[in-house]
Amino acid sequence: MDEFANRWENVQKRIQQACHRVGRNPKEINVVAVTKYVDLETTKRALDLGLSHIGENKVQDSLPKMEAIGDRGVWHFIGRLQRNKVKDVIGRFRYLHSLDRPSLAEELDRRIRSRQCEPLRCFIQVNVSGETSKSGISPQELEEFALHVANYSTIDVVGLMTMAPIAEHPEEVRPVFRELKRLQEKIQRLNQPRLQIPHLSMGMSQDFDIAIEEGATWIRLGSVLVGRGKRGWKP
Ligand SMILES: *Cc1c(COP(=O)(O)O)cnc(C)c1O
Repeated sequence: MDEFANRWENVQKRIQQACHRVGRNPKEINVVAVTKYVDLETTKRALDLGLSHIGENKVQDSLPKMEAIGDRGVWHFIGRLQRNKVKDVIGRFRYLHSLDRPSLAEELDRRIRSRQCEPLRCFIQVNVSGETSKSGISPQELEEFALHVANYSTIDVVGLMTMAPIAEHPEEVRPVFRELKRLQEKIQRLNQPRLQIPHLSMGMSQDFDIAIEEGATWIRLGSVLVGRGKRGWKP
């Protein structure tokens, strides 16, 4: 077995263990293989291993990969999205994990309408930790923003997303994930049919075990899974 396959097996084990600790079903956990660091060949290897969800954070890096790979994967846009790049994302990416401001929602709606694409599945990104370096809507503005976005039939809000701060010990980020779960429940209590938001996109290489314990349904894994070098874990 090569290094890549080994990594994936190891990650699956950790997912199972985290689920076991809190009595969750591992089938609830979806993995986005984040291929932003790696080349086309390594991205293809991820698909060969059965990882069907591919995450990229830059439009210019992902388009050539998509063209080469075609419709084999389900593509997730996970980075900050500029309005002038919206036209390249819609129709290509199935999910957006970083819906973070009204002007972006407005542009998505406009472009999806004019191109008659199917609705984009979006996670609202919340800046739970409040770091100024992070994007995301503030927890205080979340409810108003969610209700606003629910008006766009072109946008299907599937859940919330957050990025935890870099921490020395993974345990330090647990309160951030717990808070996102609380915010999810708060939005669900609005009983808005278009804001059922069953999903939480949280947890990366450094902290996915804890994110799973706190309710993640989508984890976004780069370095632990595919590696950081252009060629991933290949020598
Ligand atoms: C890069 C990135 C990831 C994956 O990061 P790793 O720490 O390498 O797992 C996940 N989510 C977002 C938004 C990213 O930009």
